[in-house]
Amino acid sequence: ERGRLNRLRHTPAVTLDGQKVELLANIELPDDAAAALKAGAVGVGLFRSEFLFMGRKGQLPDEEEQYQAYRRAVEGMEGMPVTIRTVDVGADKPLDESRRDEAHLNPALGLRAIRWSLAEPDMFRTQLRAILRAAAHGRVNLLVPMLAHAGEIRQTLSLIDFARAELDNRGAVYGAVSIGAMIEVPAAALSLRTFLKYFDFLSIGTNDLIQYTLAIDRADESVAHLYDPCHPAVLRLVTETIAECNAQGKGVSVCGEMAGDVAFTRLLLGLGLRSFSMHPAQILAVKQEVLRADAGRLQPWAQEVIQSEDPAQALAL
Ligand code: PEP
Ligand code: MG
Repeated sequence: ERGRLNRLRHTPAVTLDGQKVELLANIELPDDAAAALKAGAVGVGLFRSEFLFMGRKGQLPDEEEQYQAYRRAVEGMEGMPVTIRTVDVGADKPLDESRRDEAHLNPALGLRAIRWSLAEPDMFRTQLRAILRAAAHGRVNLLVPMLAHAGEIRQTLSLIDFARAELDNRGAVYGAVSIGAMIEVPAAALSLRTFLKYFDFLSIGTNDLIQYTLAIDRADESVAHLYDPCHPAVLRLVTETIAECNAQGKGVSVCGEMAGDVAFTRLLLGLGLRSFSMHPAQILAVKQEVLRADAGRLQPWAQEVIQSEDPAQALAL
């Protein structure tokens, strides 16, 4: 099976009815770009930059170290786009293990991701400058995690402007970036008008979107059986986000685990998704699903699935 899949590496991901689909890689460190290329990814849809920050015992990477790391990822992808997500620490990804003791009752609802970045603006601007400088070496998209409020969006965008001004003052070289937001809090999926006003593209983080929509801790084994990507409420938020972006001609991808699970490829295609970002190991299997799919025929079927009482069962039939 692996050998057969390997032959699909250079085959473009196009459905039977000619719809082009973008299959991107999720990476954690710059060197993962090699695996992404090897798997036939056409870019990086999610570079989880927090892995550069974790386990450093308080010594966070400075601008130069970050710039070199982002640049390595960008150059490693040989001209293909790289979406760098700003740090998403906290909750299931603590900055370092010792800080786990700074007990917060609900870390997933606490100071994580963009909330942490906005609480540490010097650190955040350092990261933004490093990303903007790396963008001089290739196609870079900047992605912001966990946004929910219009105020956070405006604060984030003004810090990006500030970071550019700092680089200008220094005479540093930097590149243009598209700026996107993760849709991973239900409040964001229910405020698409605001998000689409401010951002060039959206990326749906189903891992957290499921967690927050269903109030199921994604890391808690005891409720794992209730963690359901097929819950009608989750599917509705995913569906509306894809549809709204498509209607407005804005880029939209899914970068949570759902994107790399072949059980959902046809459903997501039927809902109009044309960009999937996943662990490199999943790319060829998802590509095989894409090559066998007729997107036009999947469209009415997908609507039926999401409207049924038990979409998981409808999907299985
Ligand atoms: C997600 O929440 O779906 C996502 C891609 O981000 P992470 O898994 O890094 O929280
Ligand atoms: Mg997330």
